[in-house]
Amino acid sequence: MDKDFRVGIGYDSHRFTAGRPLVLGGIHIPYELGLHAHSDGDVLIHALCDALLGAAALKDIGTHFPDNDGAYANIDSTRLLTKVVDLLYQQGWNVHNVDCTLVLERPKMKPYIDEMTTTLSKLLHIDPSNLSIKAKTNEGMGFTGQGEGIAAMVVATIKQ
Ligand code: MG
Repeated sequence: MDKDFRVGIGYDSHRFTAGRPLVLGGIHIPYELGLHAHSDGDVLIHALCDALLGAAALKDIGTHFPDNDGAYANIDSTRLLTKVVDLLYQQGWNVHNVDCTLVLERPKMKPYIDEMTTTLSKLLHIDPSNLSIKAKTNEGMGFTGQGEGIAAMVVATIKQ
């Protein structure tokens, strides 16, 4: 049993910028700022991809989808997640469960957690009961607390 399960951790952060839509967990969130990135800036999906790749010891998101590759300019990050899930599947891995934490002051995430959970669980081919998304503030401290950007942390388990 012990060799059939693996754990991975992922982290990402992006800074806020004007003139871009805010995309988190695969959904659009109404807000006056978006996230600066080569892709759509979905910091939650990027951390999730790294957690999954890490669990399978398949390097990281930057290795598979380089940000100097024009093919990934403004790409919908759900497409990256789909590619990561396919890559794991080719190596004999399925996603078991995922636990996510977003760190940001604004906008408030509570109205969007259910839709993000539904969206991501479909992409991961897992039951929504195996996917947790939490959001918290950083009490005004540091870059997340000062509203400069958003950070995401994800732990994922995969099974053979
Ligand atoms: Mg990123």
